[in-house]
Amino acid sequence: MGEVKREQLRLLWQLEEIDDDLQAIRNKLASLDDGSNLKQRVDVLRVELERLRRELREMRREMEDKELEARGIEDRRRSMENRIYGGFVTNPKELEAMEKEAEMLRRTQDRLEERVLELMYAIEDKNVQIREIEAQLKKEEREYEGVRQAYEKEYKELSERIVFLEGKREELLPRIEPYLLERYQEIRAREGGGIAKVEKGVCSGCGFSVSQRLLSRLREEETLIYCENCGRILFWEE
Ligand SMILES: [Zn+2]
Repeated sequence: MGEVKREQLRLLWQLEEIDDDLQAIRNKLASLDDGSNLKQRVDVLRVELERLRRELREMRREMEDKELEARGIEDRRRSMENRIYGGFVTNPKELEAMEKEAEMLRRTQDRLEERVLELMYAIEDKNVQIREIEAQLKKEEREYEGVRQAYEKEYKELSERIVFLEGKREELLPRIEPYLLERYQEIRAREGGGIAKVEKGVCSGCGFSVSQRLLSRLREEETLIYCENCGRILFWEE
């Protein structure tokens, strides 16, 4: 194998190593977890928490209203009863009407107080629910922060590595004959690799044995020799 060809193939081999590294890094970059799944869960929990807190505020407001209303009804009922039992009203029909009115007020008061009690229990439940969601949210937010930090660190490292390798690649390209580069790129696009070393008579690209005939041509000729199986340019070092 002539010195010119050997040197060119050596450079091409370096290029392939760089291209393999770049590809592996880009694949890794694409598969990094950027935390968007966790973020989505955090957002859902935040919306849920907001909804529960709004419901709690509404329940508290209703409870205050109902308590106030119940106190008002109670006052009216008490003054009605004072009038009934105070002996000021003597007309039986009027008395009867007032007793009916007092009875109605009592029923209304009872209903309001029942509702207040119901709301008290519901508020208690709602508070428990809110504390659970708050704890879960805090946990998932921490988890998200962790994933995000790891992602940003790794993203930065891989990006820096890409810049470094691309710089090396740019230095290498002008030193390789254009026709060789073109062949390499064609084969690499098709096979996932453009050049292979012959080691112990085997193509490092596909693992197939290289025939004796090709081996001797590889040693002697200046032309490019391709693997008969995978088509990669063969490179052989003594
Ligand atoms: Zn091969």
